[in-house]
Amino acid sequence: MFAIKRELKLNNVETSLMRGNAGFKRWVYNYGLELLTTSWSFEGVKLSDSKRLDTIKKVFTQVTMQKAEYAWMKLYPSTVYQSAFMDLKDAFSRWRKGLTEFPKKKSKKKGDSFTVYKTSGIYLEKGKPALPFTNRVVINAGKLIKLPGLKELRLKERIDFICSSQTFTVSRIADKWFVSFVLDAENIPPVIHLIDKLGIDLGVKTLATCSDGTVYDMPITTKKAKTKLGKLQWKNRNKVLGNKKLKIRASNNAKRYYVQLAGQHAHIANIRRDTTQKMTTDISRKAYVIRIEDLNVQGMIANHKLAQALSNNCFYEIRRQLIYKQAYYGTKVGLVDRWFPSSKMCSKCHHIQPMSLSERIFRCKSGCGNIQDRDENASINLRDAPLEKVRLA
Ligand SMILES: [Zn+2]
Repeated sequence: MFAIKRELKLNNVETSLMRGNAGFKRWVYNYGLELLTTSWSFEGVKLSDSKRLDTIKKVFTQVTMQKAEYAWMKLYPSTVYQSAFMDLKDAFSRWRKGLTEFPKKKSKKKGDSFTVYKTSGIYLEKGKPALPFTNRVVINAGKLIKLPGLKELRLKERIDFICSSQTFTVSRIADKWFVSFVLDAENIPPVIHLIDKLGIDLGVKTLATCSDGTVYDMPITTKKAKTKLGKLQWKNRNKVLGNKKLKIRASNNAKRYYVQLAGQHAHIANIRRDTTQKMTTDISRKAYVIRIEDLNVQGMIANHKLAQALSNNCFYEIRRQLIYKQAYYGTKVGLVDRWFPSSKMCSKCHHIQPMSLSERIFRCKSGCGNIQDRDENASINLRDAPLEKVRLA
């Protein structure tokens, strides 16, 4: 089973519709939770939580939903409240088994989410069984997705293959909305890679340099956002968010500043995630064997500047994404031994020579005439690294 999660590209109308759906789900969940716990105090009723919730659902659809004041509920797909009841059943059974805390009421603060699914199949003739797979939604390759009971929505990143799923969960983290759904493995067609083997040098100056000549730059927006962050921090350098021990209370200005600061940090993290996601998808689409250096970040932490650069360029994030995307794109990620001299070796004649970090151009001293960008040279060496120097991720 594979899960796909994509960010949605929503306009204002769509955003408020998503908020509405999530609000409806929250309302029903809290309603069921309250009625269930109240029902425990009714004497002489011996029913399981699940049976009680079934009765509560009947009350909800036949009584509550029919009231004029709740007419708005009919604007939303019925699977939203259906899945709210399923979630409740699940939450209570987990609690009964001692797996979780007592189910709490849902609050807006904890983020929004709701689930929709395709209900039944199409019956061609009455009494005959439904066609197989008609309870599934077919999702075409591309940037559009039609969720059951909702209009077609746009995605920020495309889906590469035609696939299908039944259940879709829409969720919000900060101001971003996502849709996630599960696929059956056999539904994923093989991806035809244009490049057999690709070496990637994760750099300090650029995000990544590939052996086919592609260079991925650091997003300029991160630099801008970082400058803004720096300014923000400098302007507010004297603000302290209180101190409980010293009994200093935080000023409203300080509180406001810290909210702003957290927002700016999240903004930078988002830009980075977008960039690395796009890059790793792009690479996984085009190359079959992907090789990156198996860097030992522990050993590099001593070098503060390098550590900063590595964390900036989200080395780990890129590696993690390339590895998990193997399942979707049928790629093979190889990690090249960290002692393999990818930067110090000539990619043409394999002559090894010292290279300081500041040297940006590789000029082969063996006389083979190779003059090449440092990172490009390294990426070719990673691509051609001998098998005994590579372990599969
Ligand atoms: Zn050479």
